[in-house]
Amino acid sequence: MSEKIHLTGFSTQELADFVQNIGEPKFRAGQIFKGLHERRILDFDAITDLPKALREKLDETATATTLKVESRYVSEDGTRRFLMKTHDNFPVETVFIPTENRDTICFSSQSGCPLKCDFCLTAKLGLLRNLTAGEIVEQIIIVLNDVYGIGAETPHGTNLVAMGAGEPFLNYENLIKALGIMADENGLFIVANRVTVSTAGIVPKIYEFAKLEKRPNLAISLSAPSDELRDKLMPINRRWNIEELLTAAKAVQKTLRRGERFTFEYVLLGGVNDADEHARTLANLLNKHDLQKVKINLIPHNPAEPLEYHPPNSERVESFKGILESRGVAAYVRRPRGRDIYAACGQLAAVKG
Ligand code: SAH
Repeated sequence: MSEKIHLTGFSTQELADFVQNIGEPKFRAGQIFKGLHERRILDFDAITDLPKALREKLDETATATTLKVESRYVSEDGTRRFLMKTHDNFPVETVFIPTENRDTICFSSQSGCPLKCDFCLTAKLGLLRNLTAGEIVEQIIIVLNDVYGIGAETPHGTNLVAMGAGEPFLNYENLIKALGIMADENGLFIVANRVTVSTAGIVPKIYEFAKLEKRPNLAISLSAPSDELRDKLMPINRRWNIEELLTAAKAVQKTLRRGERFTFEYVLLGGVNDADEHARTLANLLNKHDLQKVKINLIPHNPAEPLEYHPPNSERVESFKGILESRGVAAYVRRPRGRDIYAACGQLAAVKG
């Protein structure tokens, strides 16, 4: 089956070329696209507005689905983690996070991750491979169908975050293509302002991203206020240091719409980067770079064996947050979700059970 063309990752233009190549009229492309993405039917035979002969022809040469859900875990807080496998047996994880006002789907851009952030469990897998655009889109369709049912309307305001396994900016082309397909009004119709992409700091791609006409929201994982510490926690800092990263962040700040902010994520590691002094240095750093339109998401570390870190206690978190706020930096604490099922930030490592 791996040789079959995966149509779920095709743009409308590519689908149009494809149907013409198999000798079908062009308008079939629109029907197929709507069937796969608007109605979320990942089975050609069930797209019954297509003639039977065409459905059979599609089945011979192409496929709508390549991922298999291997297990599905539900947290006591309602978060769901889907552990899927690609056709060539690599793990892909996707997390559904319900909240009172809106739901969020956290998807993966790579199987495993090549970055070696010391506090992250995904890093222990190493990079297994990049996911294709089709595999990225399919994750979201599978989760939407599980939660709302095939074909059912998606509640308005479902958000996407590229914060699962992998570094999205090291799979840039496929990520941007997948986001384009998902934004299509004849499909899922999840547009750029409902999407957030998180990067550990691939600086050249941040500049490229800043130039996108329909740019999703950006989050940058910072997690340390000095190069000395960041070099240790996030080795990518040795390639692009904090100065280069914040200069790129400034380029993004210039493109923000009125009232829009972008995010720095800061994983709080007990006894490592959570002292008042770190908070002061961080606030000074942002002020020095004129980064006024940012907010900081403080993420208490989600522990997992064999990681040698632990979250700070809540007084420490509040003190850190208070110092940032007193210096004019907006700060929020991210409540951990799905820790009990290995679904929280930095816990995705294809853990079973
Ligand atoms: N590679 C991208 C996308 C992953 S997003 C990036 O680094 O931004 C996942 C977020 O979770 C990142 O901000 C990362 O720093 C954070 N994270 C990683 N491991 C964590 C852990 N064990 N506990 C809490 N947050 C963690």
